[in-house]
Amino acid sequence: MKNRKVELLSPAGSFECLQAAINAGADAIYFGVEQLNMRAKSVNSFSVQDIKEISSSCKASGIKSYITLNTVMYDHDMQLMQLILKEVKKQQIDAVIAADFAVINYCNRLNIPLHISTQANVSNIESVQFFSGSSDLIVLARELTLRQIAGICKEIKRRKIKGVSGELMKIEVFVHGALCMAVSGKCYLSLHSQNSSANRGACAQECRHPYKVTSLETNQELIVDNEYIMSPKDLCTIGVLDQLVESGADVFKIEGRSKGPDYVFTVTQCYREAIDAIAENTYTPEKVEDWMKRLSTVYNRGFWEGYYLGHKLGEWTRTPGSIASEKKVYIGRGSRYYPKIKVGEFLLESGSIKPGDTLMITGPKIGVAKEKIEALIVNGLKSEVAAKGDRITFPVGIKISPGDKLYKIIQTNDA
Ligand code: SF4
Repeated sequence: MKNRKVELLSPAGSFECLQAAINAGADAIYFGVEQLNMRAKSVNSFSVQDIKEISSSCKASGIKSYITLNTVMYDHDMQLMQLILKEVKKQQIDAVIAADFAVINYCNRLNIPLHISTQANVSNIESVQFFSGSSDLIVLARELTLRQIAGICKEIKRRKIKGVSGELMKIEVFVHGALCMAVSGKCYLSLHSQNSSANRGACAQECRHPYKVTSLETNQELIVDNEYIMSPKDLCTIGVLDQLVESGADVFKIEGRSKGPDYVFTVTQCYREAIDAIAENTYTPEKVEDWMKRLSTVYNRGFWEGYYLGHKLGEWTRTPGSIASEKKVYIGRGSRYYPKIKVGEFLLESGSIKPGDTLMITGPKIGVAKEKIEALIVNGLKSEVAAKGDRITFPVGIKISPGDKLYKIIQTNDA
């Protein structure tokens, strides 16, 4: 018997990531514009003018688009917030993700579908009931266990709690990506040390640093050893995804609007395959092992299943950054495409390449593509190596555009 399907929701921090999510099989994407979203500092945020193109790309691909407007809002933000929402309404974005009551109120007045952000920390059925008067979906707090999520989903059905649309309230959970020690993002570390508020989308990642302890009596300094004691590993639920489906949650969200298109593509593709496998009853430990291997190739701080199985926070990272098994190094950009022979031309701006190397191309129209170089043509002649300043050509299965970025993939020894 087939299991029920859930919606896979992927992050889009750029047009490259948006295309990568579409290509990898996302059912929906979420994005932010200007500074009123929780990744205002760490990505090249989209502008209000980009909403139109995002909406039309998603509609053309048959997927939904949700916009995050989920920071703490001050009075001076009201004008921009209203301007964004008017454009959201005009371009028929499928829903707004918000936690602030001013945004909730304004969405309701404009009849814009609303999803309650994880920033609202919804952790019980009474809160779901409360927000059902203004929304259709709740992104639950990330600290709940599977049993608590299942309890909430069951109660929605038993009490027949319907949202504004008249449908039963839906539940969204995070399935993959960065976690932090702050309760669903409520954190003052960055504000305290850099006057840069995480609750305004400007987290400075203070928890990810190494720290030392100083004795006030002797001035002796000790480096806190082995672990980054405030920096949890990343959430990865692909090994327990069947249990998350069983919990009754409707939407599975991937974190990562500040990550690159390679991350968005690989993570979306793995979870797409896993969700489909669960629906088709072909979800096996061997497949989980393969997905874990592929997920390890892109940005990650090490993996654990988060709080879903009832674990306390105790899975700390060993290094400040990613331990991905592959690294991408920027080497140049696209200059031409020859469609008849399906060959791309690139200008090398740094580094060198040789036959056998794996290259990655990213761009707003293609998302992400990988090619292994079999034969290399440098400045029009067959060659064994290409270096900075060379114009290289090689077969590319997808039409590249001038300006697309070219990277070399390097295996790392850290993973
Ligand atoms: S500083 Fe660390 S704990 Fe605080 S919001 Fe940023 S990632 Fe989370």
